Amino acid sequence: MSSIPYEPVIGLEVHVEMLTNSKMFCSCPVVDSTNAAPNTAVCPICAGHPGSLPVLNGRAVEFGLRVAAALQCELAPISIFARKNYFYPDLPKGYQITQYEQPLAVNGRITLQTSQGEKLIHIRRVHLEEDTGKLTHVDAAGQSFSLVDLNRAGVPLLEIVTEPDFHSAEEVRVYAETLQALVRYLGVNSGDLEKGVMRIEPNISVRPLGREELGTKVEIKNLNSFRALERGVAYEITRQIELIESGGQVAQETVGWDENRQVTFSQRSKEDAHDYRYFPEPDLPPLLVSKRWMDDVRQALPELPWERCSRFVAEYGLSAAEAWQLASEKQLGEYFDAVVKASPESGLRTVYAWVTGELLSLMNSSGVSFEDLKVTPTGLAGLLTLISTGQINQNTGKGVLADMFLSGKPAGQIVSEKGLAQVSDLDFIAGLVAEILAEYAGEVTNYRAGKITVANFLFGQVMRKAGGKANPQVLRAELEKQLNAS
Ligand code: ADP
Ligand code: MG
Ligand code: ZN
Repeated sequence: MSSIPYEPVIGLEVHVEMLTNSKMFCSCPVVDSTNAAPNTAVCPICAGHPGSLPVLNGRAVEFGLRVAAALQCELAPISIFARKNYFYPDLPKGYQITQYEQPLAVNGRITLQTSQGEKLIHIRRVHLEEDTGKLTHVDAAGQSFSLVDLNRAGVPLLEIVTEPDFHSAEEVRVYAETLQALVRYLGVNSGDLEKGVMRIEPNISVRPLGREELGTKVEIKNLNSFRALERGVAYEITRQIELIESGGQVAQETVGWDENRQVTFSQRSKEDAHDYRYFPEPDLPPLLVSKRWMDDVRQALPELPWERCSRFVAEYGLSAAEAWQLASEKQLGEYFDAVVKASPESGLRTVYAWVTGELLSLMNSSGVSFEDLKVTPTGLAGLLTLISTGQINQNTGKGVLADMFLSGKPAGQIVSEKGLAQVSDLDFIAGLVAEILAEYAGEVTNYRAGKITVANFLFGQVMRKAGGKANPQVLRAELEKQLNAS
């Protein structure tokens, strides 16, 4: 137990691969490094052969500007590429081309919706660089060696660095989720953490609450899920506080996250910037971004995740959490919008319940994505209309949706082919009620003796006899009438 309160302080570095057609400085294709054959997308430039020269990919700059503009950064009219020198087997040139002193953009901001309310995070810088290759360490049959795949070497990368503005593991997770939604909205990449196209590195320190000076930071690598991120940060906060409380000192280092043991472990002590001998890249001219280009990028930004979220709250009266559930997934939000527009008579809560309930659970349980979904927004709106106008009841509607989901047929066609139309005919329903009451005379006696919950059982029996198609309101009223008639 700690005797004085500590404040965690966290800043994040996020690397985002950019899904351009070609690499950052050569014409090799950007391939999915999780399944392409190794070393099939490599040329003399990204393999670092002497005499080869880099040429900047304009589309990568465009993607970088989009993200920076969405984060409300100041876009730099001139930015400079630099060499960051170090040796590693996944880095054939012996240096990484990155931006150092003059990055693409600085001073942005993003507002998060956390369980504690709104939280403003300042973005320190956004810069362009290139990814490294990938090493696979093999330890098998008494042999131990490493394999190198250069498909990823030179893939365009964007690094987004925040100020140390975070004070909890939850804020960190929400930031990462919001950024993921953003890169998906902007078409920069799939945002899949487990594929490594978005990599999050939190820097964590703690300090006695109220103290200005920052504590010594530890950086966590290899976090490939939001869960790992939140747990890793929480673990590191606790570890540092306990260490200080027991008289120890936090060492500045880089740690990894051990998913099996749910602990961080030391990887290497942290090098300083001067170790890298940064200097301006002599093979690339300064990157110039015109005012016109900046304006075009800002103008062309789509509705952003947090903007859509606010609109759903304002326009549809959803809670912030419900709105974010929809808006954080681009296609889900678009789908919801389209259903609402196609079924003005259905009521917003109904649409929300069907989309996030029945439809999403069908999609999740069968692994169907919005691209493959056979139920169009208009199709779902059609089903909801059949329910709201009483042509089928709610329960039948669920079965019809499951059918639409598989067959892609319109709701109306399924209802008529299967004869599912709701029966509201009073004489017909009264006849069924009478039959059931005769069949369950004992239950009826119990009901009349005061055990009124028996009515639900009898309701179920009549509905079953009606093949699930009886109008539930009519049935309920008729059942009560006959039960209460002595
Ligand atoms: P480095 O050069 O080691 O990567 P930087 O100073 O550039 O370190 O910061 C990297 C990230 O770490 C930034 O997001 C920054 O906000 C955060 N950071 C810096 N110092 C601390 C600290 N003492 N505690 C927590 N986060 C920090
Ligand atoms: Mg760092
Ligand atoms: Zn290449």
